[in-house]
Amino acid sequence: MDNCIFCKIAGGEIPAATLYEDDEFRVILDAGPASRGHALILPKAHYTDLFELPEDLAAKAVKLAKRLLPAMKKALNCDGFHLVQNNGTAAGQTVPHYHLHIIPCYADKGPAAVWTPGECTDEDRELIPKLVKENL
Ligand code: 5GP
Ligand code: ZN
Repeated sequence: MDNCIFCKIAGGEIPAATLYEDDEFRVILDAGPASRGHALILPKAHYTDLFELPEDLAAKAVKLAKRLLPAMKKALNCDGFHLVQNNGTAAGQTVPHYHLHIIPCYADKGPAAVWTPGECTDEDRELIPKLVKENL
């Protein structure tokens, strides 16, 4: 993709603070971090989101996160992590090139990403599993 900032960063055309690189991925520090050490796993090939990402790359991205977490924990002395991955503008995705956020959390600061819990109705408890199973 010619005009994709993450294609350019992943391919090394635009420099970024890189924690890890192999043939298929580059892992960079987020330019607007939610917390110290906030990193992004970028596949080098362009896929807009998880809908487009091939299964093998999806699995590899999570494996890579699993490998990075202990190293980041030691390096940053953090206490926990969020793994966040936004799909679609409705979900807050601002860069349409698949990326997996690794967000370190620090006990003294609390979770970096929070939401307000709502309520799961009896109707949804019955209906949603049925509808999803029908579409799998
Ligand atoms: P999204 O909202 O799409 O899930 O996340 C996009 C993330 O990319 C944001 O956290 C934002 O700070 C980060 N970001 C956007 N542009 C750049 C950039 O040019 N360089 C780096 N390192 N991070 C970026
Ligand atoms: Zn791209």
